[in-house]
Amino acid sequence: MNYYSLHHTSPNTTFKKAVVQGLAKDRGVYFPEKITPLSKNFIENIADYTNHEIAYEVIKQFVGDEIPTKKLKEIIAATISFDFPLVKIDDNIASLELFHGPTMAFKDVGAKFMAQCLEYFNQGNQEEITVLVATSGDTGGAVANGFLGAKGVNVVILYPSGKVSDVQEKQLTTLGQNITALEVDGVFDDCQEMVKTAFLDTNITKKLTSANSINVARWLPQMFYFFFAYKKLKKENKKLVFSVPSGNFGNICAGIMAQKLGLPIEHFIAATNVNDTVPNYLVDGVYNPKPSKATISNAMDVGNPSNFIRIQELFNNNLELLKRTFSSYSFSDTETKATMKEIYTNTGYVAEPHGAVGYLGLKKYGLKENEYGVFLETAHPVKFLDVVEKTLPIQVKIPEQIQKVINNKKVALQIADYAGLKSLLLK
Ligand SMILES: *Cc1c(COP(=O)(O)O)cnc(C)c1O
Repeated sequence: MNYYSLHHTSPNTTFKKAVVQGLAKDRGVYFPEKITPLSKNFIENIADYTNHEIAYEVIKQFVGDEIPTKKLKEIIAATISFDFPLVKIDDNIASLELFHGPTMAFKDVGAKFMAQCLEYFNQGNQEEITVLVATSGDTGGAVANGFLGAKGVNVVILYPSGKVSDVQEKQLTTLGQNITALEVDGVFDDCQEMVKTAFLDTNITKKLTSANSINVARWLPQMFYFFFAYKKLKKENKKLVFSVPSGNFGNICAGIMAQKLGLPIEHFIAATNVNDTVPNYLVDGVYNPKPSKATISNAMDVGNPSNFIRIQELFNNNLELLKRTFSSYSFSDTETKATMKEIYTNTGYVAEPHGAVGYLGLKKYGLKENEYGVFLETAHPVKFLDVVEKTLPIQVKIPEQIQKVINNKKVALQIADYAGLKSLLLK
């Protein structure tokens, strides 16, 4: 499969090169040249397939012949090594729990898939690849874990000091080996900007790539869980509405890709915190990116979502067309906390802030009689322990995979600006 840059001034490239480079030379994100819907038969009989088989059917056209079938199936098996439960919390609302992976964040899927593709593509090369990644919270841990020990790959993670939770910080600063953590005196957008600057810096001769959802191998596997959810909900015989708590809009964009592949999804809701660039755009048609604001759903503190351009492409850059299938609403921290309480009081379900924002999206949208709403619960409550325990009258039991890292010693290099990153990359 070939990919083109959405800035349209770099040549088209292969899946392999898109994965290895991350971003095109013209700084555009890559987009597949062709999207071929899956057979109706497959969608109709999806319940007969295992999750691994579904994932293979969904991803294979985007990889093409660049990874042999047997290897691709192995990569999928290593990626999808846990369950994606759908927890009913209301007559017509369920939480799709994406957090049962090794770092308890939905990003485990994309990170693991990408790590293995990259390791495969760099096999036998003398030169190591350096993965540069900016994180607003959960990406760091998932990438650190997914890439730990990957041969020929070094990982450098930039995170905003004081703006990620304790658990998140431990997950990305304690693994060692091929993982280096940089604690940046700034906000997430500063981290993301530094990463983008490094890619353009001709003095840096190391082979760099990105593991943010701009990378096609991080972004595309996120299509899987929309299919997994459909497999479970098909029998309800209702129109499906997905509400996705959104930051960089990679996850929801993957959902729209799933719809393009023929998955019957009625509507998408991109639920955001007060970082409301996209909700505002839908209202007045003016795309006005702003610096990110810190919130309690910090993995969504993104002022200029890098995947929105992909969503626009999926709707031929036609705002009216987009609005038919896609809504976006913004919610404050106050509303989020009130909703966490409401969900807990009414149903006993513990939603962390991102999931609660997703739930709010469904409420604001207003499900119709024949619709079934699914909100994506993108992290385990333990990842946002402070907020959850301050908001709800509960104590979160620390799961085993978190217990393991929480007492480890943090190792991070402090940097204030691009010079700090550059000197590390020139070593
Ligand atoms: C990354 C993240 C999001 C946002 O996902 P995008 O694909 O960037 O929109 C939401 N919730 C959690 C917990 C995350 O880690």
